Amino acid sequence: MEKILVLVKPDGVEKGNTGAILARLEATGTRLVAARMLKISRETAEKHYAVHRERPFFNSVVEYITSGPVVAAVFEGKDVISVIRRAMGATDPAKAEPGTIRKDFAESIERNAVHGSDSPETAEYEISLYFKPEDIL
Ligand code: ATP
Ligand code: MG
Repeated sequence: MEKILVLVKPDGVEKGNTGAILARLEATGTRLVAARMLKISRETAEKHYAVHRERPFFNSVVEYITSGPVVAAVFEGKDVISVIRRAMGATDPAKAEPGTIRKDFAESIERNAVHGSDSPETAEYEISLYFKPEDIL
């Protein structure tokens, strides 16, 4: 079954929106199969955002994602990547549809409340950064 790595990002955790964000993701009908709170190390953040290494926002997004605790979670289900990313909304909250997580909880294109893997391959890689196989239930 398809899986996706989700992060409730530091702004989401700091503002007390973790539960609300996870509830919206559970309401999609997909299944929560792993979750933990952690502070992401610089090394892990650089691996997570490696595809963006050459982008002008790389250093800033690494600083931000390591700035405070996050909640990492794995969801599983049919077409879970497109289902969860639709619930998250556009990267830039100014462009996000009404009713999406980013429309309602994000502050800016960078501090945008939540992350979701964008393909089965990136999901597998990103899940391995935060979870051991036996942590996925
Ligand atoms: P995510 O990967 O976090 O789920 P996404 O797939 O919608 O978001 P990406 O293009 O993968 O967006 O960008 C990764 C993250 O980098 C964004 O979520 C955001 O935090 C940050 N980011 C993206 N574009 C910008 C930008 N132009 N300026 C600042 N930060 C940005
Ligand atoms: Mg992305």
